[in-house]
Amino acid sequence: VAVTASCVRSARGEPMNGILHVHDLTREHQQEEQRSTFISVISHELQTPIAIIKGYASTLARTDARFDAKTIRSRLVAIEEEADRLNKLVGNLLYASRIQANGLQMDITALDLERVVRGMVRRLRAKAPDVQVSVLIPEHLPVVMADRERIEEVLQNLLDNAVKYSPRHPEVTVACYVTGEEVIVSVSDTGMGIALREQEQIFDRFHRVGEPLSQSTPGAGLGLYICKAIVEAHGGRIWVESTLRQGSTFSFSLPREEKAPLPMVVF
Ligand code: ADP
Repeated sequence: VAVTASCVRSARGEPMNGILHVHDLTREHQQEEQRSTFISVISHELQTPIAIIKGYASTLARTDARFDAKTIRSRLVAIEEEADRLNKLVGNLLYASRIQANGLQMDITALDLERVVRGMVRRLRAKAPDVQVSVLIPEHLPVVMADRERIEEVLQNLLDNAVKYSPRHPEVTVACYVTGEEVIVSVSDTGMGIALREQEQIFDRFHRVGEPLSQSTPGAGLGLYICKAIVEAHGGRIWVESTLRQGSTFSFSLPREEKAPLPMVVF
């Protein structure tokens, strides 16, 4: 707290009363802390890809350089990947600031979740053929009311994380099941896992787990914050169960067709 004192005087200048101002600075400190976390995470996330792009581009551009076609291609692929990473970061920053400013505009339709899940898994298999992915979906999965693009965004983030935080031979399982009024989708991995004390905070903006292995993986701590906002805007929940060094399961629920959410949710 910050305390300031002032004195109330009479017309003749004699002290009559004292006023003590007690100002609670907790919120200011939290905002300041968030601002500096934001700056350090974002500058690190910008610096790394820019350094890689600059390094590869300047060696390729040297007039005296002699590279074979394979080397040129691999460097161009690396440049493209780093540009994608920058693009994703800027996209996530805009997404997160839109959520803060206006909530999420939703385009709700009746959705065949099985098709969406299988489509996302197909994309992952094409992009990362060495990742072992299994899909468990019961017959006659009920239709959910949801925004297709946003649910794809949630699945994309969870699948990317499952691979990213599995340093060796990623094994990913996507499962859907029904409990009462809800349909649940879960994405499990056999990766590095998350300590219990961190499990609640990982859904906060810019929160990244302190473990060195996690810190050395690219990321700005925005993906799960966006997933949570999207799922909650559907009237659902998102949570994690995880054991350190064994793996994690991220699950989210969506209401079944008859429990349609409002088309627009403001936070
Ligand atoms: P990031 O871009 O940093 O991956 P996220 O919001 O998606 O941001 O995740 C927040 C943090 O939660 C990550 O930095 C990571 O430490 C941890 N995390 C997320 N998913 C997993 C996972 N599947 N396994 C282990 N840690 C995870």
